[in-house]
Amino acid sequence: MLHGKTALVTGSTSGIGLGIARALAAQGANVILNGFGDAAATEALRAGLAEETGASVRYDGANLMQQEAIEAMMGRALAEFGAVDVLVNNAGIQHVAPIDEFPTVKWDAILALNLTASFHTIRLALPPMKAKKWGRIINIASAHALVASPYKSAYVAAKHGIAGLTKTVALEVAQQGITMNAICPGYVWTPLVERQIPDTARARGISEAEVVHDVLLHAQPTKQFVRIDEIAALATYLASDGAASVTGAVLPVDGGWTAQ
Ligand code: NAD
Repeated sequence: MLHGKTALVTGSTSGIGLGIARALAAQGANVILNGFGDAAATEALRAGLAEETGASVRYDGANLMQQEAIEAMMGRALAEFGAVDVLVNNAGIQHVAPIDEFPTVKWDAILALNLTASFHTIRLALPPMKAKKWGRIINIASAHALVASPYKSAYVAAKHGIAGLTKTVALEVAQQGITMNAICPGYVWTPLVERQIPDTARARGISEAEVVHDVLLHAQPTKQFVRIDEIAALATYLASDGAASVTGAVLPVDGGWTAQ
């Protein structure tokens, strides 16, 4: 389905991004991985994915909190492949604390990675997409793009921002064969979620087990974590020609969380 196309998935050395990269590679796309990680482990991941799918898989370790690093990464991608046909803005971080105790450096980092980095990748990916009259931009937002939870001010603000960015750019490019959508996962068991459990327990004054059952799964009527492959399946659909009229959509995959 995606043979001859190139997909860049930010934050794809782990979790949801890795699942999406694997799914797009399985569809035949050239894939550019990005994210942090031990060099040998990342190379093993890259080589494994290439072998498993037959796709051409590259790795770019750009730190997406830095504008110059994003520009350099996009420059390398465009020089090698001519276009990033499928751009998946997935890299993200979290920090959990009451707002009057929220470290200002964490606020800046979350806004830089979870929102501003997407502004830069999008503005740089669009000109070649416009020239080809085809493009797919998929932003991995969150249920927190639609509703809030206490102690996640920066994350919720950034994710609501991504929802607005998604709708705006979708309108700007609607007649040029380019779609832009946001996927809003509920809780998915990944390192990002695992790492926030101790801080959430502290902020709420409850145990870590209570965080899992009374906070995370409590939000989701299904009482199940969302699976990575479910998010990857929606991303694959949005990247397909069959989804040409799906644009500007902010799509929950959250076990019913935001239906409440
Ligand atoms: P994860 O921690 O497993 O993966 C995050 C990825 O981002 C990693 O590859 C990491 O190396 C990369 N990354 C971190 N800082 C970076 C930087 N400065 N530059 C480049 N890459 C960087 O997390 P995940 O749970 O897979 O989250 C992926 C996305 O999904 C995030 O945007 C997150 O907000 C969103 N999301 C996750 C959940 C969930 O429950 N896990 C729910 C809703 C939305």
